[in-house]
Amino acid sequence: MRNQRPLILLLCLILWGSAWARLGDKPDPYEKIEDPARARKILDDVMAYLKKSYNFRVHYPVQMNLVHESVMDAKFAGSPYKGAEVGLYTFEGGKHQIYVMKGWSRDVCSGVTAHEYTHAWQFDNCPRDQDLVLREGFACWVEMKYYDSVGAYQHAEDVRNHSDPVYGVGIKTMLALEDKVGPRKLVSMITTLRSASELDKILSDDRSGR
Ligand SMILES: [Zn+2]
Repeated sequence: MRNQRPLILLLCLILWGSAWARLGDKPDPYEKIEDPARARKILDDVMAYLKKSYNFRVHYPVQMNLVHESVMDAKFAGSPYKGAEVGLYTFEGGKHQIYVMKGWSRDVCSGVTAHEYTHAWQFDNCPRDQDLVLREGFACWVEMKYYDSVGAYQHAEDVRNHSDPVYGVGIKTMLALEDKVGPRKLVSMITTLRSASELDKILSDDRSGR
C-alpha cells in the first residue's frame, strides 16, 4: 500500500493541475460584451472554430461591428424582426459586415457571431438566390453547433426549438438532413442547394443515405 502513495500523489497533482489550467483558460460565459476589441476576439475564435470544424473560408475581409440597440433598431426599421434582433449581416464597402448588439453575454454574442459569420460564408460560397429557409436554417444550425462546442447547451436547445416559420422550419430541416447525411456532407450540400423543395426531395428519397 505504501508504495502506491507517490503514484496517488502524482495523479492528484496532475488532476489538480489540469483543473486549474481549465479554469484559468475558460472565459466567463456571462461577461457582458461592451468592448469592440473583445467582440473582435470572439469573431476570431468563431472563425478559427469554423475553419477547423467545417473548413469555412471567406474571400472578402470581415468587419465586426458591436453596436448600440438603437443602431440595430434603425437597421431593422420596417422588418418583422425589429425588437427581437441581436445580430445582422450585410455586405458593404467590399467587406462582410457583422453587427452584434452591445451588452449581451459572451455566450450569446459568440452564438450570434457564428450565425452572422455563416451568412458571410454563404455570400462567398453558396448560390446567391438560395432561399431564405435554407439560408437561415443553415445559419441556425451552425449557431447551435457553436453553442454546443462551448457548452452553452440551453442556448443550443433554444435554437433547436425555434418556432418561427423561417428559422424554425429551417433548423428542423437542417437537423433532418444532418440525421440523414452527417454534418460534413450537410455543409458540402448547402453550397449547391437552391430551394427548400430540392432539399425536401432529398429528405424523402430513401436511396440518398450516408
Ligand atoms: Zn440569419
